[in-house]
Formats: sequence, C-alpha cells, structure tokens
Amino acid sequence: MGLAGMAMVGLSACQPPQLGPGCHFARSASQVLLNHNANGWGDGASNVWASGGRSHWNNANTKAPTIVNYWPQDQNAGHFGVKEYTSNVSINSGYTSTVGPSGGFAPPTCGSSSWATKPHIWLNTTKGSANERNGRQLWNYGVAAHEIGHALGLGHTTNTDCAKVHLMESRNATAQDCNVHHPTAGDKAAVNGIYD
Ligand SMILES: [Zn+2]
Repeated sequence: MGLAGMAMVGLSACQPPQLGPGCHFARSASQVLLNHNANGWGDGASNVWASGGRSHWNNANTKAPTIVNYWPQDQNAGHFGVKEYTSNVSINSGYTSTVGPSGGFAPPTCGSSSWATKPHIWLNTTKGSANERNGRQLWNYGVAAHEIGHALGLGHTTNTDCAKVHLMESRNATAQDCNVHHPTAGDKAAVNGIYD
C-alpha cells in the first residue's frame, strides 16, 4: 500500500482508518506478535521505537492483547509488522515540523472473515530530532504507540484542549505538545470497547 493510503500522523487531512468487522485482533486474544526482522521490516531505530510504543500499551492495563516482540526471518510471520521509512515530504502544517509525517498505519485487507493481508505500522526515522518537541525518544515512542493503537483497532480523536487530548489525536503534535505519549483513560476505554 502506498503512503497515500495510510493514516498519517501529522497531516491535518488524514482520515481515520476504518477497520471492518473482524479486522482487529481477535476479541479473546491474549497476545499479539509485533514482527521485527532484518529484511527491511523493523530495522534499526524503528525497532527501538516500536518496542517503546508497544510497552506503553502493555503497561496500560487494558483488555487489549499483550503485544509481544517477535523476531522471525519471514516478514509475513507475526500478527503485525513495523516498517521504517525516511522520505521527507514537505508540508505546511502550521506547527514546528515541516518535514514529513512521523508515522503511518497500513490497515489490514479484509477477507470474508479474516485479514487477507496483515496490518503494519510505519515509522519515519528522520523525525524526532533532538531539538524537536520533547526530544527524539519520547516523540518516537509516542508516535509508535499511536500507530500501534491503530493496529489494535482505534481510530482518531480530534481534541485540542490538553485536558481532553488523547494519544489517538489525528495530529501527533497536538498530543506531543500536551505531553501525552501514552494511552490515556479515554484511549483505554476505547480499546476496552473492542476487546472482551
Ligand atoms: Zn493516526
């Protein structure tokens, strides 16, 4: 799937992914596997950030399945994957960064009763420089956690008041500026509405 079809963090015009029935992880799943490998999926820094983002959800005490790092040789193994991209796309978004989206989520393709292709998250490893927002690590962990939220089945929220802002805001900078890098009570309630 091309970048245009993805849910982009940092683009004001991005559309929430709509996962059809049966297109999130099984309601009763106790764990899901986050795929990393050495064939262009999850290389380098994106592995670190994906693991950091994963830990936010695992620490959130929700009904969401526990996300387990998985290191196969086959990129098609695991339940969802992480990919790294470095393309810089200039945008005039009205906030500090003018270089590209920070991450994206490619939803699964649905078959009749299950995924035909698995979802994956994208992380832009050119983002999160040391002078950007709250620093490289926190920025990218927050982005990764947001994208993993999509993989778990969540769409976007569109708040601007820091008292109401969630991890799943459509504009990543909104959450970052409000020091929201983890699933909030609202994010947890939303994901708990998906899983038994
Ligand atoms: Zn998003």
